[in-house]
Amino acid sequence: LMQLFRPLDLLGWVYRTIRQGLVDMAAMFDLIDTNVEVADRPGAPALVVRQPSIAFEKVSFGYDEDRQILDELSFEVPAGSHVAIVGPSGAGKSTIARLLFRFYDPLSGRILIDGQDIARVTQESLRAAIGIVPQDSVLFNDTIGYNIAYGREDASEDEIVAAARDSAILPFIDSLPDRFDTEVGERGLKLSGGEKQRVAIARTLVKNPPILVLDEATSALDTRTEQDILQTLDRVSENRTTLAIAHRLSTIANADRILVLDHGRLAESGTHAELLARDGLYAEMWARQAAERQADPVT
Ligand code: ATP
Repeated sequence: LMQLFRPLDLLGWVYRTIRQGLVDMAAMFDLIDTNVEVADRPGAPALVVRQPSIAFEKVSFGYDEDRQILDELSFEVPAGSHVAIVGPSGAGKSTIARLLFRFYDPLSGRILIDGQDIARVTQESLRAAIGIVPQDSVLFNDTIGYNIAYGREDASEDEIVAAARDSAILPFIDSLPDRFDTEVGERGLKLSGGEKQRVAIARTLVKNPPILVLDEATSALDTRTEQDILQTLDRVSENRTTLAIAHRLSTIANADRILVLDHGRLAESGTHAELLARDGLYAEMWARQAAERQADPVT
């Protein structure tokens, strides 16, 4: 009977692996209803990442013909650097991440990773190079160990434990009677928002991608948990090319460079200090959020 089950297990694994990639991205990008229309070119080679730089070259894009979202947008994220994208709601921040994953192709312009046009490489190799930490992580109804190893079925126990340690969830797991074998999800142990996010960070560490995309809206978490998670993310993004989509400016003041997006164009860019000195859109957003923080210090 066991032998009969094996192929089914495998099928289940394949199904879950495919679903996983989509689930993480769906969680981040509200992609549930989105048609994925992009196809690999015949004979497309795999992306080869040696120096994980990202470049947008005059990228224009709109979801509908009559409404342009990105307008000849150009910027670079040097290999190993930490760049944050900020801007008013609807400015196109998440759209940039969706294009980087190639859920859509630009109408014009190119997106390069390590000098290779992402439209010309296989999507599988592209998505293997990028890790996402969404703000609302989805857990599977399985063990916590399984949830961490997800996406890399060959991960060793040591790697899983190291990832749990580096994402600061190991003490919590050690406090559970069944440790890594604890069932989580709907029928198992319910995890808090912060614990779920740490599982997502651990999962990303196991995948070990050269490029990280962070959705840094941690508004669901209390201030202390948020600070802890931000510190963990800082450590995780060290030595990795990191593109952070920031909704709250307090989380990204340390970025090497901040891109301020407005109506699909780069309005300003620079370090936090440079942008404050410039006294433009960023300085205005910063002053507004600082006032909000004072009025309501809990959020
Ligand atoms: P926020 O900070 O509110 O998350 P954002 O800067 O990330 O905003 P995007 O999600 O990139 O903004 O959206 C940019 C614009 O594109 C918005 O006006 C949005 O309505 C539109 N848009 C987003 N997704 C789609 C879609 N699938 N189909 C059509 N329009 C879309």
